[in-house]
This record gives sequence, C-alpha cells and structure tokens, in this order.
Amino acid sequence: MKKITTGELINKSASPCFRVARGLSGLGLVATRDITRGQTIVEYIGPLLSRTEADDKGGRYLFDVNSRWTMDGSGRTNVARYVNHSCRPNAEAVIKNRRIFITALKKIKPGEEICYDYGKEYFDEFIEPHGCHCASCQKKSPKRV
Ligand SMILES: [Zn+2]
Repeated sequence: MKKITTGELINKSASPCFRVARGLSGLGLVATRDITRGQTIVEYIGPLLSRTEADDKGGRYLFDVNSRWTMDGSGRTNVARYVNHSCRPNAEAVIKNRRIFITALKKIKPGEEICYDYGKEYFDEFIEPHGCHCASCQKKSPKRV
C-alpha cells in the first residue's frame, strides 16, 4: 500500500523561485529570484514506502522521513530531486509530519545553485566512490584535466 502525500502546493505555485538547470553535478536547481533565509523553496514529494518496500526498491531518491516511512522521490513531478548535494550547503531538508521541505539556510541570490547536505549515509554510499562535485570540494581539490 502506497500513500501519496497531500501537499504539492508549493511546487505548483505560479512563480517558483528556481529553475532546473545544468549545475555542478548534472542537473540542479538554480535560484531565479532572491530567496530569504528560512524560506521554503520546494517540497520533496512522492509516495511513502514502508521500510521493507524501500529496502526492496533501493536507489538514490529514497528519503527517510522517520523510522517507519521512507519517501520515494524518484517520480518526475518531484523537482526537488534535482537539488544537488553540497558539503557547504545553502539549504537544508526539514521534515515535518512525514513531509520534506527544502528550506533556505541563508540568503540565496538569483543564479546560485540550491544545495543541501544529503547526510553521511548517502554520501558514503553514492558520492564518496566517485568523488564529491560540490563547489566546496572542487575548491579544495580541483580536478585536473
Ligand atoms: Zn563536497
């Protein structure tokens, strides 16, 4: 049994404050307007899966909302899945009542890519093996061509 979250209002607002664009690590979300600190940018949406369902499904778009439920964000309508990881993020994922909101940690200017920290578990499994492409890591050890 899958449960669909009710709230898709933010993502369907007439004028979002971002667009999907090519970022540092494939497609990313780039601010198109000034975003203030604490502002909700986008909601991470998708069906809620039980632990067992999530384990069976696997993949990189699973997001644990609590100890029982995991959101499957792999759907195309979930634009929040384009938000890339950063080790020095300008946004964070806030979980409220089994919903996930990507919220600004600081002021974000138009043209800046919106990123949040995916957390250690995800980093170790999916990012570390290939190296992190976030701005902060690229600055520390720029890739030689
Ligand atoms: Zn990094």
